[in-house]
Amino acid sequence: MAFEKIRGTYDLLPEDSLFFYTLKKEIEKIFELSGFNYVESSLLQPVEIFKRSIGSESDIVKKEMFEVVSNSQSIVLKAEETAPLMAGLSEKKILESSVFNKFFYFTKVFRHERPQKGRLREFYQYGCEYIGDFNKYMDGEVIELGENILKHFNVSHSLHINSIGCNICRKPYLENLKDYLRKEKDNLCVDCKRRVETNPLRVFDCKNEKCKKVTSAGPKILDNLCDDCKKDFEDLKDFLNKNGIDFIVDPDIVRGLDYYEKSVFEFVETGGKLGSQSTLIGGGRYRYKKDEIFKKEITGVGFAGGVERLVLSISEDVKEKFLDSSSLDIFIVHFGGETFKKGLEIIKILRENGVKSDISLNEGRINKLLSLASKKKAKYVIIIGEDELAKGKISLKNMKTSLQKEIILNLEDLLKEIKNGE
Ligand SMILES: [Zn+2]
Ligand SMILES: [Zn+2]
Repeated sequence: MAFEKIRGTYDLLPEDSLFFYTLKKEIEKIFELSGFNYVESSLLQPVEIFKRSIGSESDIVKKEMFEVVSNSQSIVLKAEETAPLMAGLSEKKILESSVFNKFFYFTKVFRHERPQKGRLREFYQYGCEYIGDFNKYMDGEVIELGENILKHFNVSHSLHINSIGCNICRKPYLENLKDYLRKEKDNLCVDCKRRVETNPLRVFDCKNEKCKKVTSAGPKILDNLCDDCKKDFEDLKDFLNKNGIDFIVDPDIVRGLDYYEKSVFEFVETGGKLGSQSTLIGGGRYRYKKDEIFKKEITGVGFAGGVERLVLSISEDVKEKFLDSSSLDIFIVHFGGETFKKGLEIIKILRENGVKSDISLNEGRINKLLSLASKKKAKYVIIIGEDELAKGKISLKNMKTSLQKEIILNLEDLLKEIKNGE
């Protein structure tokens, strides 16, 4: 029976799932290399967590939440990871011991937006959080991680950074900005007209061309930083310069969510693979104020990136390369009977020795089996024939060079051969 998929969702199936899985492992390795610990919060969350953190005026809370039917509580599907993660860390008092302060995740999130290329309703995000007050090494390390991930997959990108100041310097600036936006109200979209009063900084995030024109001609927070914020921003730029990370200072990036302060940044795809949804990674420094959900004030820096967008911006060659290196080491073909039994013996030992291997459960024409091995991208094929087996030998075929040789059945030699062949 035919049925339709839910709009903005997809199943992870071969062959897409093969690269997805590899990508996930590679990203996790990069985070682990810098001492980040894996975390993941529950998919079902009380709506309050997002109202308190992202702000009840944000698009996410106002229009993009998936509500879950429940009798007693307002439950939504997780719309982002940071806020529920902070709530969980604070609940369990994990940050108080300062043993754990670096976290990474790879998780599903849900947003009820209009689906388009690079924007789904159910999608994956990867990201990290580094907890603590501003420190150029910390903000720098988080930005560098974003850079490393994009470089790892050879994605064309540029890094845009800005500072949106702190509580002290932002207050007078926001008054200025409000005055300016009120005068320009007729040139703003309906949403932004409202934002002028509720959160004027968020007008900078509007994708409407008219609104962009207004904000780009208006006062910028970067020109109004206090001495402390100015110094922190200079320090961060200094770190990036010393570490060879190219960046563009972009005063129009504000990431207008309630909890951001000081450093904000975006990595944007520049290879033309994403169309209008070209932001690969967005992040910044934040401060969660103490309340019923966040039991203690939490400051930190982090970022999130959409996995599907990242996949779209990676070239086919690069995908191929990663898939090749993660493919099966050995595929065993046999001719039934004793040769099958021997195959099972060999595969057990190969797996015990960490060799990624599989065996055909069918006997059949050798060409058909070899073609199957090639489709599975096996690096080697072991062929166990009756005559060879009688002499205590097997054939080993290198699928890359097509060279095939008969070798004495000895596991040590076999493992050596496979390792040398690479
Ligand atoms: Zn400041
Ligand atoms: Zn607007």
